Amino acid sequence: MIEIKRKDDCCGCAACSNVCPMHCIAMRPDEEGFLYPEVDGSMCTECGLCEEVCPVPRANVPSGRNSTDAYAAFSTDDNIRHCSSSGGVFFHLAQAVLRDGGTVFGAAFDGDFRSVIHTAVNTENNLPVLIGAKYVQSRVNDSYRRVEELLKQNKSVLFAGCPCQISGLYSYLRRNYDTLYTVDFVCHGVPSEAVWKEYKKLRERKAGAGVSDVSFRDKRFGWKRYSVLFEFNNGKRYVKRASDDLFMNGFLRNITLRPSCYRCAFKGISGTGDITLGDFWGAEHILCEPDDNMGLSLVSVHNDRGEQLLNKTGNALVLKKTSIDQVVGYNSSILRSAVCPGERASFFEVFQNCGAEKALNAYCRQKPMNRIRHGVQNIINSFGR
Ligand SMILES: Cc1cc2nc3c(=O)[nH]c(=O)nc-3n(C[C@H](O)[C@H](O)[C@H](O)COP(=O)(O)OP(=O)(O)OC[C@H]3O[C@@H](n4cnc5c(N)ncnc54)[C@H](O)[C@@H]3O)c2cc1C
Repeated sequence: MIEIKRKDDCCGCAACSNVCPMHCIAMRPDEEGFLYPEVDGSMCTECGLCEEVCPVPRANVPSGRNSTDAYAAFSTDDNIRHCSSSGGVFFHLAQAVLRDGGTVFGAAFDGDFRSVIHTAVNTENNLPVLIGAKYVQSRVNDSYRRVEELLKQNKSVLFAGCPCQISGLYSYLRRNYDTLYTVDFVCHGVPSEAVWKEYKKLRERKAGAGVSDVSFRDKRFGWKRYSVLFEFNNGKRYVKRASDDLFMNGFLRNITLRPSCYRCAFKGISGTGDITLGDFWGAEHILCEPDDNMGLSLVSVHNDRGEQLLNKTGNALVLKKTSIDQVVGYNSSILRSAVCPGERASFFEVFQNCGAEKALNAYCRQKPMNRIRHGVQNIINSFGR
């Protein structure tokens, strides 16, 4: 029976709860708001499957992988590129699978923006719910089981998620399927759902209305200086540069991340999916050409299936071949886990005892020196434009 002795041994992928034949493992939030398996011992038959499929000790991925084919890429559709976090590559990979009659699983907000949930999409009309990075750990729920059902019917499936979720899916499936495609992301780490829920409430209280839309990667001031955007039911808007927003600062300064993210078992240039997507930072140095600041994706192709999927996008993407060895120098999350800051424990203590507003204000404000540095940088940039 699975037992989590150390919090950082569990990435919350839910492979254990999906595989349990007795359906006796529920994923429940701890006091920080991260999901962990909870076994109903009265129903457990001690079959051991839950421990067997846990991907953390083994970082389970299929064999036959290479990791050298990397591209800088962006969508030729400016609207898709604008709505996406990076260059909009995910949309076209998903579109290709949907046009083949397949199903795409990815992360979407629930109806009232409280949680991010792995959701199945079958039509292009519904695809926008999956676009854009949501900086909250997504709930896998029973997605792996639903993926397996479709694969057993020989249907095409694209499953997109964090590296640990892709590894969790492979662990759960325990065999290869010809109609499965997987896409993982370069991942900084995933923030707590509980902190997000409280922060959302705070924004709603200040706006005097419920949220009608959220973007963590709004590009109105450019892709590199991305902002957080909240839209409210009363027509109000909140737009803040990521570094000035309390929730994003908690994420970017590693304060609100899941314990397992500080020693992530899934780092490395090989990724866990057939394709890894990320932000193509450093383009002006690597590609030696000006960057239009509209968003550029890193596309790292790890095997023939990834190549096949990328080819299905036809002319929808502009692709520039490059080498992953150059890219890693500008994107530390590919190889390294986030470093746990000293104040993380105090943050969660204040969060639990005094509430989110106090904790976020005390620990997630941008440091004055950084504010000055950013101000100076903005002035320099404005001369360079
Ligand atoms: C939590 C998180 C941390 C990230 N950290 C980095 C980083 O440090 N460096 C970097 O280069 N890139 C990072 N990325 C990836 C980056 O933000 C873009 O998602 C990626 O470049 C793809 O962009 P796109 O324009 O092709 O597609 P987009 O439309 O932006 O991508 C959307 C895809 O992301 C998936 N997704 C969104 N939110 C989640 C979530 N919470 N959990 C699982 N899947 C999700 C959706 O299912 C969809 O498949 C991170 C993404 C997430 C979700």
